[in-house]
Amino acid sequence: TRRFLSVKNQPSIGKFTGKPNPSTGKFTVSFIEGDGIGPEISQSVKQIFDAAKVPIDWEPCDVSPLFINGLTTIPEPAVQSINKNLVALKGPLATPIGKGHRSLNLTLRKTFGLFANVRPAKSIEGFKTIYDNVDLVIIRENTEGEYSGIEHVVTPGVVQSIKLITRDASERVIRYAYEYARAIGRPRVIVVHKSTIQRLADGLFVDVAKELSQEYPDIQLETELIDNTVLNVVSNPSSYSNAVSVCPNLYGDILSDLNSGLSAGSLGLTPSANIGHEVSIFEAVHGSAPDIAGQNKANPTALLLSSVMMLNHMGLNNHADKIEKAVLSTIASGPEGRTGDLAGKATTSSFTDAVIGRL
Ligand code: NAD
Repeated sequence: TRRFLSVKNQPSIGKFTGKPNPSTGKFTVSFIEGDGIGPEISQSVKQIFDAAKVPIDWEPCDVSPLFINGLTTIPEPAVQSINKNLVALKGPLATPIGKGHRSLNLTLRKTFGLFANVRPAKSIEGFKTIYDNVDLVIIRENTEGEYSGIEHVVTPGVVQSIKLITRDASERVIRYAYEYARAIGRPRVIVVHKSTIQRLADGLFVDVAKELSQEYPDIQLETELIDNTVLNVVSNPSSYSNAVSVCPNLYGDILSDLNSGLSAGSLGLTPSANIGHEVSIFEAVHGSAPDIAGQNKANPTALLLSSVMMLNHMGLNNHADKIEKAVLSTIASGPEGRTGDLAGKATTSSFTDAVIGRL
């Protein structure tokens, strides 16, 4: 007999269960401004949310890393804030290369059990890439696979690196993919895998998807080898516009960047969500861009579109639609409505003002 553990019995698989403060009618959201361009793009989001009268109070969180027993952790007040509010918006965090603290992004994923990384990639009008009709959604397993960190030297010149796939982790991310497809009205879930080679590991991932499909008769399950996926995505991306793809960690990491390149031409416009059972954290895909920090040049679009995903997750769909429309129509309006990374003339603050003018 097959066993579906905890996840099945959880009423909310990645659903937001927070409530607004009864006295103000507003939700509280934890806000990590981040490093580099983080404060500038955060400021833009706050101004636009204020102007759009979104019923949210921000709770600033300091996630400066701490070292406890040789491990990187984040300060307890930040953990408490995020656990209380169940939702956070996060600017980019810089990771020192090769030394110092380990990635705070990984620490956050572990601390809050953020098991699904949702990355939509959609063409943006006003910024030409090879295709103008890309609308892809990848859901990446976020906790194990090749990122389990189990590696050792067997003997000099021989290294073993372990890809870990478990039924539980596969089930919760695939179930989330089915739920997400339903929520956004897409009739297909595509499991991307390489079970011809990784017979047991990817085989288990595919098996779990097939078992779960019985519970989602309204969604068509398809399986696709990753080599076919990359070929199909670059030759005919619009064939995925009515699907949600779900895959193990490393495939999802690589495929989602491919999708971003096809849709937006860069990572600078791409939003993402990290979904946990209770807590979810929304962030731009790009990093802290130290080369342009403090110069009023940063494009806040990716963080803004991440905040739109957050509003949809919280059920504030009307606010989400309003802000998304204002951002996209500003970019489509011409060079004055686009920042330098999109070959435009806008600064971070003039772009923000233009978005506010279109709310
Ligand atoms: P990056 O994404 O910060 O920058 C790459 C290039 O894209 C730079 O030229 C930058 O100017 C440009 N760019 C990025 N975002 C932009 C924006 N919003 N507007 C305009 N231009 C933008 O990548 P990187 O330089 O490899 O990384 C810098 C730091 O960010 C590193 O410490 C890295 O670890 C960290 N990082 C953090 C996250 C995260 O917090 N999720 C993700 C990626 C990288």
